[in-house]
Amino acid sequence: MTRYHGGMNAPTTRFAPSPSGLLHLGNARTALFSLLAALPDGRFLLRIEDSDRARVSPVFEQALRADLAWLGFAAHIDEAAIWRQSERGAVYDDFHQQLMRGNLVYPCFCSESELAAERASLRARGLPPRYSGRCAALDPAAALARVAAGEAAVWRFRVPPGQELTFHDVVRGPQHVATNLLGDFVVRRAHGEAMFFFANALDDALSGVTLVLRGEDHLANTSRQILILRALGLPVPEYGHLPLVLSADGVPLSKRDGAGSLAALREEGFLPLAVINYLARLGAVVGSERLLPLTELGQAFDRRRIGHAPARYDREQLLHWQRVAMAAAPVSEWLPWVAGCVPEADQSRFVEAVRPNALFPEDFRRWAGIVYGERRTLDEDARAAIVAAGADFFRVAVAHLDAGGAPGDLPAVLKAAGHGGRRLFHGLRAALTGRLAGPELKDILALMPRALVARRLLECGSTDAQDL
Ligand code: GLU
Repeated sequence: MTRYHGGMNAPTTRFAPSPSGLLHLGNARTALFSLLAALPDGRFLLRIEDSDRARVSPVFEQALRADLAWLGFAAHIDEAAIWRQSERGAVYDDFHQQLMRGNLVYPCFCSESELAAERASLRARGLPPRYSGRCAALDPAAALARVAAGEAAVWRFRVPPGQELTFHDVVRGPQHVATNLLGDFVVRRAHGEAMFFFANALDDALSGVTLVLRGEDHLANTSRQILILRALGLPVPEYGHLPLVLSADGVPLSKRDGAGSLAALREEGFLPLAVINYLARLGAVVGSERLLPLTELGQAFDRRRIGHAPARYDREQLLHWQRVAMAAAPVSEWLPWVAGCVPEADQSRFVEAVRPNALFPEDFRRWAGIVYGERRTLDEDARAAIVAAGADFFRVAVAHLDAGGAPGDLPAVLKAAGHGGRRLFHGLRAALTGRLAGPELKDILALMPRALVARRLLECGSTDAQDL
């Protein structure tokens, strides 16, 4: 994959999922915006944030790789540049050492219950709960001796007091955080593991990421991450925090409920192109209303036009894009769906006839069943239309076929016999397909085997419609 030409202003972005569940539309949107922001000349990285062993699983990692491939991202991901946090512990250790040497971190021996009591007392006084800094004042040599002797300690970052930290969030605008509100935060756990946001910030800086687009649930970490990167003399990327995607009921989508997962949409038959076109416009303005492939979406995408209000998952909109994407796909894309259930000579014509009514690829097979084979089932409207057409209608139709007439002439013949108007089209459509909506009647008459047309009309004429 030779696509990295990163110009001066071309950003390097990344998607950094934790494989702890199935990707949902909100995660997919974060990935998509990150990729689009990097297209066409920038660099897009994938990083697997799998250091929290208790929560992650290789199954979810495989699933997310499959999802990204399905969305069409694989061609934009440099496999050789994928980092996995579980393999980078030594790097985090090195930078931790650097912080230790600079006396920028200190060991904290406070117990969970002491910390809980401290938080409770701050809350009771109406103050934000943050660490008091008690262990910051310990004599460094004595504190280190305690650690060396095996006493459990987390490592806290010395937050510089009395400063105002300012950064510009690409989505939310200027952000100001008073360092006094942060409290000295933990960067390393007692058993030596780097805290998530420490590893995350280091990896961004070390892999040359210049623009981080991620969910707004990470906004609170950002000021801490900036402090860490500055303390280590590492470059600070630009950040943009995307509002959450809410379900139709207004609750944030979650990795843990399968509904709204990409996997579920794929199962249902949604096309990746429909999904990315929908997502690209979910809370962002794309300068085109046309169905666009990824690269063109990248050109139309402007990171300054990402909205800051929560976006709501709207299935109707997704279905709209599905319809557009289904209609836009070349006939060849649907041929495999009809192989084996539509005679070869008819396949292209069949696809053309059915596609205006096909919302999912599976619909081609369903219609193949109706037009070529299995006994059709009648829905209520079709049953009523057959009853309304009446026995004479079907007698005329069957007589026409018996006399060797072409199925395509049935509408004209029935009309001439006084069965014109709505009854004509509804009656024929209902008898042949079992429903009133579907492909053009003339196409059905042209495609359906003559013997089947005759049989279905005969059934309608000779039986009480209730028994069909
Ligand atoms: N691994 C984090 C997550 O899955 C992403 C953090 C980030 O994008 O900075 O939520």
